[in-house]
Amino acid sequence: MGLKNTGFNSKLIHSGGIKDPLGSAVTPIYQTSTFSFKSAKHGSQCFSGESDGYIYTRIGNPTILDLERTMADLENGFGGIATSSGMGAVNTVYLTYLSSGDHVVCTEAVYGPSRGVLENVYPKFGIEASFVNTSELKAVKEAIQPNTKLIFLESPANPTMQITDVVAVSELAHKNNIPVCIDNTFASPYLQKPLDLGADIVLHSMTKFINGHADIVAGMIVTKTEEDFKKLRPMMVNLGCNMDPNQAFLTRRGLKTLSIRIDKAQENCIKVADYLESHPKVAWVKFPGLKSHPQYELAKKQMSGPGAMISFGLNGGYKAGEKMMNNVQLALLAVSLGGIETLIQHPASMTHSKLTIAGKLKAGITDDLVRLSVGIEDVEDIINDLDQALKDV
Ligand SMILES: *Cc1c(COP(=O)(O)O)cnc(C)c1O
Repeated sequence: MGLKNTGFNSKLIHSGGIKDPLGSAVTPIYQTSTFSFKSAKHGSQCFSGESDGYIYTRIGNPTILDLERTMADLENGFGGIATSSGMGAVNTVYLTYLSSGDHVVCTEAVYGPSRGVLENVYPKFGIEASFVNTSELKAVKEAIQPNTKLIFLESPANPTMQITDVVAVSELAHKNNIPVCIDNTFASPYLQKPLDLGADIVLHSMTKFINGHADIVAGMIVTKTEEDFKKLRPMMVNLGCNMDPNQAFLTRRGLKTLSIRIDKAQENCIKVADYLESHPKVAWVKFPGLKSHPQYELAKKQMSGPGAMISFGLNGGYKAGEKMMNNVQLALLAVSLGGIETLIQHPASMTHSKLTIAGKLKAGITDDLVRLSVGIEDVEDIINDLDQALKDV
């Protein structure tokens, strides 16, 4: 397709390269479970890999391949592996690199279920995990054991907005022959390209910024090398956490506007962060675009923009958080993030309410923490909504 040297926005529109024989401008939805072979010989060649024809949708499908190629292009990787959800991608990575007796080092404040499965499911297969503050290189170094087979990062992390130095951790990992996987959901390849920074594998919950319209749950893994791609692909196929063609079509459509959506949401978010930081009822604001963020300089170095996610704390603690949730009118009171609509949630009383106090603190969640995913509405309306919601908290 000769798209290698085009810019990011052109790739968003034109990458994928699956052309419909009838000339449709958009890759069609190949809504089929199976594909017929031209002959017995062709069938055998498809299975042996001599021919790259399609066999069965769990193994591969043109609509899904279009999205996989696009994401690989955007992340500067070798290949993409689409999954039914972000957690499908996370578990495909864990199961590919970790066997009984192995150990994984994981960012402490990682997405809840990415940590939850390592605590509750993998121990029964004899797989151990250490959760550390990966923002501190020393902590990562100390956590590495002779049986460490994977370093799993999330940066910026959810919901603490902590940033990990991907270059430094990747160098350390590679000295110890350990692959690095990073969850790039919060930044997207528009703002951060972890494979260029040294990571081996990138994954996404495409449910968030990549699709961007809150109407799909989907995941993606992109590898830097063919070798890692060939390890991961059969695991996804055999686990059966493949994507559906219709899901791939909608995600590919949402992806086309990634940069303009993020530009607008980020511009709004910078204004909202300034507003919140000067509000008397707000105790603290964590946003990589604010000078007060502990890794402001690192964020500037490894990301091309601070994104559209903010965490902030309320002076009134838990009660104030709950009150504010009931007061918002424009922002949707909902989990998830990265969509065109502003979403707000209070982890202590909502997503993380079942955790013990110690568990919440381990995940970086204090009772006063509110998480905001800033959308692309008029910024005055977002700020006015927050302003009226903060009045009596
Ligand atoms: C949402 C999310 C996931 C999980 O993705 P699903 O698509 O919901 O399975 C993983 N990591 C991060 C950072 C997320 O925000």
